[in-house]
Amino acid sequence: MLEVRDLTVAYGKLVALRQVSLSLGAGELLGVVGPNGSGKSTLIRAITRLVRPLGGYIRLDGKELGSLSQRELARWAAVVPQRPYLPDVFTVLEVALMGRTPHLGLLQSEGRADLAAVRRALEQTDTWQLAGRRMGELSGGERQRVVVARALAQETPLLLLDEPTAHLDMGHQAAVLDLVRQLCRGEGKAGLAAIHDLSLASQYCDRLVMLNEGRIVGEGEPEEVLSPQLLASVYGTRVSVFSHPLTGRPVVTPMSGDSRAGLEARGSVGTFRS
Ligand code: ADP
Ligand code: MG
Repeated sequence: MLEVRDLTVAYGKLVALRQVSLSLGAGELLGVVGPNGSGKSTLIRAITRLVRPLGGYIRLDGKELGSLSQRELARWAAVVPQRPYLPDVFTVLEVALMGRTPHLGLLQSEGRADLAAVRRALEQTDTWQLAGRRMGELSGGERQRVVVARALAQETPLLLLDEPTAHLDMGHQAAVLDLVRQLCRGEGKAGLAAIHDLSLASQYCDRLVMLNEGRIVGEGEPEEVLSPQLLASVYGTRVSVFSHPLTGRPVVTPMSGDSRAGLEARGSVGTFRS
């Protein structure tokens, strides 16, 4: 469904992505992880054509991204941006309806099918009860869920999510990621989510790509990518990686200075050495 090959993107002299290649199939949820500034948002911006690559290409369903019209692209891929621009005076319903724009003809207004898609998206994100409220009156977490609803209302095969859980409490983090995973597994969508929380990404994603300074430094199942060695070298700090007792997926926590000292005192420094 999505193929990225040797993608290089720069902002002026700053090269934000270097020869990044990845592919994503229907039914799969891919997590893009990596430190701040490693290029996660830039990758999503490139796939939505907000930045133009210096080199490489992106194909959606075998078609070169540049050959698609804006409308075709919006029918293929919906995005939840990291910092969406949303005027405070818009109501929740109006924002969710924006997701239907690519499906409407010129000057055509929304029909029953559009309203049904919007209602479903608002219900799925637990925001239907907010439909009449203005965006300016919502909490950060509520706003975020409305932005997810807008993307779902777009009913696209590909979902691109940039830190979709960043402003959410644990309950809503789980709800949003459970929903995204269900949309992938159950409805055959392809999902690409930039998630800086490694443990969260590990629990929900089928596969991870780790970026560091614009390069892919790890790719595979969470157990393969989240090794203490790679994490220490990428994040510049020692970490502990545990296996989740139920899922077996890695859980990552930074090691405090105290616990590092304790390890050294016990002479077991090597365990987590990068
Ligand atoms: P991430 O999402 O992983 O935190 P970004 O993709 O936002 O990383 O940023 C990658 C790099 O590109 C960073 O060094 C950042 O400072 C730089 N960058 C991002 N957006 C812009 C921009 N609009 N103009 C110039 N540099 C940018
Ligand atoms: Mg980002």
